Amino acid sequence: IKLSSGLTKTKEQLSKQVDQLLQLNKQFDDAFWEDLEEILIMSDVGFKATTTLLERLRDRVRQEGCNDSETFKTLFKEELAALFPQPAKRIKPQPPEVVLMIGVNGVGKTTTIAKLAHRAHMQGQKVMVAAGDTFRAAAIEQLEIWSKRVGAGFYAKAPFSDPASVAYEALDTAQAEGYDTLFVDTAGRLHTNVDLMEELRKIKRVLAKKHPGAPHRTILVLDATTGQNALSQTKLFAKDMDIDEIVLTKLDGTAKGGVVVAVSLEYGIPITFIGLGEKMEDLRPFSGTDFAQALLD
Ligand code: GDP
Repeated sequence: IKLSSGLTKTKEQLSKQVDQLLQLNKQFDDAFWEDLEEILIMSDVGFKATTTLLERLRDRVRQEGCNDSETFKTLFKEELAALFPQPAKRIKPQPPEVVLMIGVNGVGKTTTIAKLAHRAHMQGQKVMVAAGDTFRAAAIEQLEIWSKRVGAGFYAKAPFSDPASVAYEALDTAQAEGYDTLFVDTAGRLHTNVDLMEELRKIKRVLAKKHPGAPHRTILVLDATTGQNALSQTKLFAKDMDIDEIVLTKLDGTAKGGVVVAVSLEYGIPITFIGLGEKMEDLRPFSGTDFAQALLD
């Protein structure tokens, strides 16, 4: 699966219009920059990304005396790629590394846990997943099915148990049994998000109490097909949670991929992986350079 397939619409809006603009105007004068600003704003990449990108691009065009389309597009790609925040380098924690997975129902959280667990398992790690979405019995079952497929350990309690107690006991078991990584699933019911945030904070508290530094990574899962909703979900979760990384799912099934840029830039949160399908192998590390390439070529 090609990354560019998930960017068709954005690509049309952006790449085609930039090409058209370059055909009409290679002066790189004020009119050129105004037109480019309009194109960017219209293409889902967001206001902040547009402003920053234009500033940097203008500087480079001036400094390097760029006067042709090809050079311009190369500079454009480089500066677009450079906009993406990089994940922080971290020291490997005392195992198990605890990864808290958050996000709204339906975005692909369970599938993403399976994909990440599969990846870690393939790297030789002993992996456990904990069914922290006790609100939905189906979510517990689904995670169990995935854990078997992936070859990961599984920890769950009865539906409607306290999610924090599931997280605590899973961590206790993972510590006792020498697991390397523990993924903790959480609920994502949006309509009662006040309770949800309290629930997530409580999970964090008990994890930290049991294992200082835990959760070591908090990953927000976003669905690329929801376009601008992905931005409002980030805002909602970022208010109460320190989000370390974003995984953007369903880039295979959307034309709204430009929102990738907006989400990372608005909130300064690195995208570490993208989902490109429903199978456990359909996960790719995210690269800003590949993204810029796919968008503008
Ligand atoms: P959750 O409610 O957030 O746990 O969502 P699920 O993991 O159950 O996923 C919801 C639906 O999205 C399922 O049908 C998944 O197969 C599908 N899905 C998840 N990730 C991807 C992806 O990257 N691409 C596609 N096409 N579908 C996905």
